[in-house]
Amino acid sequence: MLELSGVETSYGSIQALFGMTLRADQGQVTTLLGRNGMGKTTTVSSIMGILKPHAGTIRFEGHEIQGQPAYVIAKQGLGLVPEGRQVFPNLSVRENLIATAANYSTDATPWNLERVLDFFPRLRERLDNMGSQLSGGEQQMLAIGRALMLNPKLIILDEATEGLAPLIRQEIWNRLGELKQSGLTILLIDKNIDELSRIADRHYIIEKGRVVWEGDSAALTADPELKLKYLGV
Ligand code: ATP
Repeated sequence: MLELSGVETSYGSIQALFGMTLRADQGQVTTLLGRNGMGKTTTVSSIMGILKPHAGTIRFEGHEIQGQPAYVIAKQGLGLVPEGRQVFPNLSVRENLIATAANYSTDATPWNLERVLDFFPRLRERLDNMGSQLSGGEQQMLAIGRALMLNPKLIILDEATEGLAPLIRQEIWNRLGELKQSGLTILLIDKNIDELSRIADRHYIIEKGRVVWEGDSAALTADPELKLKYLGV
């Protein structure tokens, strides 16, 4: 569904991606792993049109999207849950959810406010609270809900459970598992490898802007050296 090939992206004269190559297949959970500063967010920004790669191709459903404006890319069915969640602090939960909502899919049962609130009952309880009044976990549910309101075909989560308490993290994992069951394609960045290997199909480890290892969950968990060498955990 999504395919990066030889992607190179720079910040001015500082190059961050050196030939990034990865694939996210339809209905699967794919992860992008690596220590801080290795290029995960740069990869996400390149996919989403926030940064313009100067080399390589990014294909979504077979069409090249690299270099297109972010709103054009989003319209094709790519949803982003950004690092740091970035919910609007002075909008209510309801306003956060409907402010950017759109249905770009042809799905017979699209995501709408009711469906998101059924999916995250906690958000229903907080519907009239401001974004700034939410806990980290609630903000993450809101950020995921906001992305779902765009009815994406593929959703990218940058630092999906960063800084969240174990119980909340568990709830987010369970919800992501349900989204996978429903057929959504997911690209996930996270550091909680043991937990995410339960729901993920394929993993890419990146170092200094390029892929240094790829494999399935069984291969990842079978090799503790990998974690020590590339992830520092
Ligand atoms: P983290 O988990 O810390 O966000 P990351 O793997 O997402 O790490 P990136 O944020 O993609 O890493 O950063 C990749 C490289 O690009 C790093 O060397 C970083 O210093 C550099 N970089 C990131 N943002 C900028 C920027 N705005 N200007 C210059 N260099 C940047």
